Amino acid sequence: MDTILGIDQGTTQTTAVIVDTAGRLIAKNSVQVPARFPQPGWVEQDPSDIVRTVREAAIPLIEQYAPRAFGFDNQGETFVIWDVETGEPLTPAIVWQDKRAADLCASLAGQVDAERLRRVTGLLLDSYFSGPKVRHVLEHDPAVRAAVERGTARFGTTETWTLWSLTGGRLHVTDPSTASRTLFFDANALAWDDALLDLFGVKRSMLPQVVPSAGFVGDVDFGAGLTVPLHALLVDQQAALFGQACFAPGEMKCTFGTGSFLLMNIGREMRLSNTGLLTTVAWNVDSQTSYALDGGIFVTGSAVQWLAESLKLIPDPAASAAAAGRSTDADVVFVPALQGLAAPHWDAAVRGAIFGLNRGTGPDDLTRATLDGIACRVYEVVTAMAHDAGRAPTVLKVDGGPSGNSYLMQMVADLLELDVLVAAAREATAMGVAQLAAHSALGVTLDDLAARWEAEAVYRPRMSAPERERRLAQWDRALKALRLFHG
Ligand code: ADP
Repeated sequence: MDTILGIDQGTTQTTAVIVDTAGRLIAKNSVQVPARFPQPGWVEQDPSDIVRTVREAAIPLIEQYAPRAFGFDNQGETFVIWDVETGEPLTPAIVWQDKRAADLCASLAGQVDAERLRRVTGLLLDSYFSGPKVRHVLEHDPAVRAAVERGTARFGTTETWTLWSLTGGRLHVTDPSTASRTLFFDANALAWDDALLDLFGVKRSMLPQVVPSAGFVGDVDFGAGLTVPLHALLVDQQAALFGQACFAPGEMKCTFGTGSFLLMNIGREMRLSNTGLLTTVAWNVDSQTSYALDGGIFVTGSAVQWLAESLKLIPDPAASAAAAGRSTDADVVFVPALQGLAAPHWDAAVRGAIFGLNRGTGPDDLTRATLDGIACRVYEVVTAMAHDAGRAPTVLKVDGGPSGNSYLMQMVADLLELDVLVAAAREATAMGVAQLAAHSALGVTLDDLAARWEAEAVYRPRMSAPERERRLAQWDRALKALRLFHG
């Protein structure tokens, strides 16, 4: 049986999957990736743990299934700088969540042509992206600065670093979807941008070659002669968009997890948002580039985790659906802005708030308000996407742990007035990059993949229009009050 390996080098774990030529999941293996928090707001991983977890996740599957090809997706903005002569990292892996460059971004804001930056990259000047953190490292670490000046420093996101390590420096590559998250890549021209490289202190000699998202890149030895040809590279959210078979403009997906990440395919033209969303490269496949609108909500599943672990209102996150279902009070409103509000507001300073408490409010009501608040955040991002795309979407495809929460998915369907389709393939990310490798290596067509996409559950809207409007109006008032509170 021909099989393909997909590797998802995610933030909390590295997952490897084996799919067959019909795109079905055959086997899966995950390994946790440790993180450390050396200062408030700083998030780091050990670069050697990234390579180790990729090998540990993939090797048993390669030994058992001898896959014909592999695809590899990565965390996105997380990067490592290393020295080409020693092969040793000069920095930790600095994770996308790390906010060490927040002050730098604030101080650069006056000098940067924000409109040009947006036109070129599709993004905003924010510490989330790699560029500002590279400059922060260069300003604070003389050893890295010296290596950059000597020309021996190399930059890479987690897939780039891992491939460089596994091939002894033979492959130093990335793809346009990943490059489009650095803040120094021209997403129109699909090339590094000199003005932005200068802004962040990045030298061209540090940078990987940008290869298409699909196509043979090279043979990679995972150790002990276990060699597999590399055929696909993507950033993780785009891999999930591919795994959800969102190949046509207007199709969108939401991956629920710690946060929730929405992407909408907008076709072959890079269009900027008018509503506070980002634009990103979806993929470059068969010599054609697709773009996507990107809306990230940083706190969703983690708000449910907070209810369970900090407030102890529910035994575990999975218990939230039943608890919310028991509540009879729909007038408690929780804005779960526990780390500010990202898309489409981009207000990092606000914090969460609960409105409408009364003497009878109990744990079930607060749990319900949390899930309702998450659904309202999803509603805001989807509404912004529909506005930018100039078309109303027809369905929302979802994946990730909390997509198993029936209360939450029903509320999302109700507020959006859209069918919510839960992917049968919960591992949409690793499977997406495996399917892209199957397209490249075995000629599986996108039409085949779209035809084989399956829903495990479908939630249809059933809330009455007045009730929906009442809730959305309540949410708007809560947001206004929150802004007043924070001045
Ligand atoms: P990630 O890929 O972000 O690590 P998962 O897809 O495993 O995560 O989702 C984990 C997050 O989702 C946790 O924050 C957890 O609280 C939340 N979560 C998991 N299951 C549920 C559920 N059934 N309902 C609501 N939240 C959930």
